[in-house]
Amino acid sequence: MTYSVSLSKLLENIGATEGSKLSVDSNGKTYIGRLMPHHSFSGGDILILKLSSGYNIGIRIYADSEVKVLEPPAPVPKKEAPLEKKKGLPNIVLIGTGGTIASNADNRTGAVRPALSVSDLIEAVPEIRESANISARPFLSLFSENMNVEHWQELAEATAEEINNGADAVMILHGTDTMGYTAAALSFMLGDVPKPVVLVGAQRSPDRPSSDAPSNLIAATRFCAKGGAAGVFVVMHDTLEDDSFAVHIGTRVRKMHTSRRDAFKSINAAPIAFLDEEGKIKFTKKKRDPTTEKAVAKTKMERSVILLQFYPGMDPSLFEGIMMRSKGTVIVGTGLGHVSEEMIPLIKKACDNGSVVVVTSQCLGGMTSLHVYNTGRDMLSAGAISVKDMLPETAYVKLMWALANSKDAEEAKKLMMTPLAEEMGDRRTADV
Ligand code: GLU
Repeated sequence: MTYSVSLSKLLENIGATEGSKLSVDSNGKTYIGRLMPHHSFSGGDILILKLSSGYNIGIRIYADSEVKVLEPPAPVPKKEAPLEKKKGLPNIVLIGTGGTIASNADNRTGAVRPALSVSDLIEAVPEIRESANISARPFLSLFSENMNVEHWQELAEATAEEINNGADAVMILHGTDTMGYTAAALSFMLGDVPKPVVLVGAQRSPDRPSSDAPSNLIAATRFCAKGGAAGVFVVMHDTLEDDSFAVHIGTRVRKMHTSRRDAFKSINAAPIAFLDEEGKIKFTKKKRDPTTEKAVAKTKMERSVILLQFYPGMDPSLFEGIMMRSKGTVIVGTGLGHVSEEMIPLIKKACDNGSVVVVTSQCLGGMTSLHVYNTGRDMLSAGAISVKDMLPETAYVKLMWALANSKDAEEAKKLMMTPLAEEMGDRRTADV
C-alpha cells in the first residue's frame, strides 16, 4: 500500500489490510471508514479512508494517534453465470469505455473499479433487465479526458459491428467530461445509423448515496428499448431529482456544470425527448424510426485540426506556427464569432495556405454571423467561414471528419456548411 515504513508497520501490527473498516483517533478527532491504498500525492504518514459518504479523506497519523480495526474487508462477491436471454425483449449491447458510471464501488476496499461484466452491472442495477436483454462488450476503461481520435474510431467500428450482428440498440457508458465530443464523433462517423446509439454517464460515482449512475442507466436502457428512435443520443438527468431524464441529440449537447446531476444541456436545440421516472417517453420533435439497414462506420479523420479560443490580447505570433501547420482551425470567437483585427492577417495567411478556418461562438447560444460588423466581414474576406449555431467542439470534430472525407478544402467547407447530423439549424428552424 506504500504508506511510510512506520505507518505500514502500525497497520500490519493491528492486522489492517486494504478494505478493513478502521476507527482512527488523530489530533482530537475520530474518523471511521475503509482503508484505501496510499495516494501518491499524499505524504507517507497520511492514512486514506473512504467514509460511508463515499468521499476519501487523508488523516495525518501522529505518534499518539490511535488506529483500530473494526471489521475485516468484505469478502469478494461471487461471479454469476451469464444471464439467459428473455424472449420478446430487445437486445442491447453495452459498451464500456470507463468514467464514473462504468465503475463500481468494491465492497471490500471501497475503491472504485471498472465493472464491465454483465453480472456486475446487473448486480448493481438489476432494473435494467426489465426492459431488455443486456450483454456487455468490454472495450476501454478510461477517464474520458483520455479519449482520443483512435478511441472514437474504434468505438464507431465496434458500435456498427454490434448493430450488424443483431443488436437492437447500443448503449455506451462514458465519462461525462468529454461525452459531447464522443457523441459528436459517433454522429458523423455513423451517419444515418439504423438503431439507437445512446451514451450515458454519471456525475457522482456509484459508491455515493447521491449517485445518478443507476437512474441514468435505467433511463438510457428504457429509451434504447422503447424509444423507437434511430440516431446518436446522450441520456442524462434533466433535473436534480430522479423524476425527469433528457435525451439529447449527439451533436447538440454540452456538460454545463462540473458536478450537478442535471449538468447536461442541449444547446440551440431542444432535447429530442424526455423520460419520466416511470419510463414514459415524450418526444418533442420528429424522430427517425429504426430500420434493418446495415450500419456503416465512416471513421476517417484528419488529425491536424485545432480548436482555438480567441481572447482579448491574443498574440497572433504565438499561434502562427500551429495554425500554419494545421489543415483546419476552429476559432471560438466572441459574440457573433469575432476575433481582434490583429488576428485577421493570420486567418488570411492560414486560408491562403489551404487551411480551413471555421468560426463558432463563445456565447454558445445563438447564431454566429460574420455579416453584421466590419470585423466579421474582414474575417470572411480573409477566408473564414462561420457555421451558424454549431457548438465549438462539434465543429472541431466535424472539421476533422469533413477534411478526411472530402477531396479538398473547398469540398470540406461545403460539408461544414451542410447539416449532416442535426448539428446546426438556422434562425427559422431554431427551437430554443
Ligand atoms: N473525468 C472523468 C471522466 O470524464 C470522470 C468524471 C465522470 O465520469 O463523470 O471520465
